[in-house]
Amino acid sequence: MIDVKPSFQKFVSVKLSLKYFLLGIILLVIVVGLSVKILYFTHSTSAVPNKPGSSTNMALNNKGSESVDQLSPSITSTGPIKVVYELPVNQPVVYITIDDGWYPNQEVLKLMQQYHLPITTYLVEQAAQKHPDYWHEFVNDGGRIEDHTFNHPFLTHLSLADQINQISQPIDYFRQYGPPPDELRPPYGDFNSVVGQAAKDSMIKYIVMWDAEIKNSKLSTRSGLGLKSGDIILLHWEPGLDQELLKLLSIIQKQNLGIADLSQALNGEPLTICWLKTPIPVSEPTSTITTKTRVAGTSGKTVTSVDTGTSRSK
Ligand SMILES: [Zn+2]
Repeated sequence: MIDVKPSFQKFVSVKLSLKYFLLGIILLVIVVGLSVKILYFTHSTSAVPNKPGSSTNMALNNKGSESVDQLSPSITSTGPIKVVYELPVNQPVVYITIDDGWYPNQEVLKLMQQYHLPITTYLVEQAAQKHPDYWHEFVNDGGRIEDHTFNHPFLTHLSLADQINQISQPIDYFRQYGPPPDELRPPYGDFNSVVGQAAKDSMIKYIVMWDAEIKNSKLSTRSGLGLKSGDIILLHWEPGLDQELLKLLSIIQKQNLGIADLSQALNGEPLTICWLKTPIPVSEPTSTITTKTRVAGTSGKTVTSVDTGTSRSK
């Protein structure tokens, strides 16, 4: 009797320990499982990369380094605003976009007329103000004007109020060319969640980035491969743009791709697609070298961050 009782107590105690141990394990599994789920959810839905806006060429670095996978399918829709880098649709098309606007080019208008090219330009208001007639012609030739801020600052360096000024003032200014812009291309591809909020507060519907660029006659893509359907291609209003554009058209034609209107695609409207039927007169062999490089905004002419509330100096 004397021996039995302690061993029974011991048995009960061991049983209880085992019970608590198992309970502990179950709780641990639940906690770990929840943590993993929360981490995954947070990562996969962070639409606006939160990156310090300290350098140029950050656009593709943003996505290249941490978010390439989550950019497919193309529009990330959580966070303050939708961000688009590429936009595959049910047709093999790409989108041509041209930034800044410091160097208007008559030859580009001729190419737009000749090929009926749908082109979206993200204009800096300060640049656009210098050649208002040109931009009316651009719109008459099928171009679309969207927002690239007042004077091309690093938006992440500004206060929310100044960001809103930078984004919303061009929206008012560009009303003379048609419906007010509802797309923003942040200068240098520099944005974070605050910029997303500023854009949203300014009635912007999309932050439009890019995943391919033509520069110095070379095509660069984020994937390092050739041009593919859905690519948003970046060019700049720089001297020689017409030749760059011809080279791009030649590449597009060789890939049997069409050119679609980005705004139509974004808004789910029926697409007006330009198919290049006639040979493109490129003066020299087309460079189709693709390099896996940053494909980012590099040619902004105005780099100063200014207080947009008071200063308008370049
Ligand atoms: Zn720019």
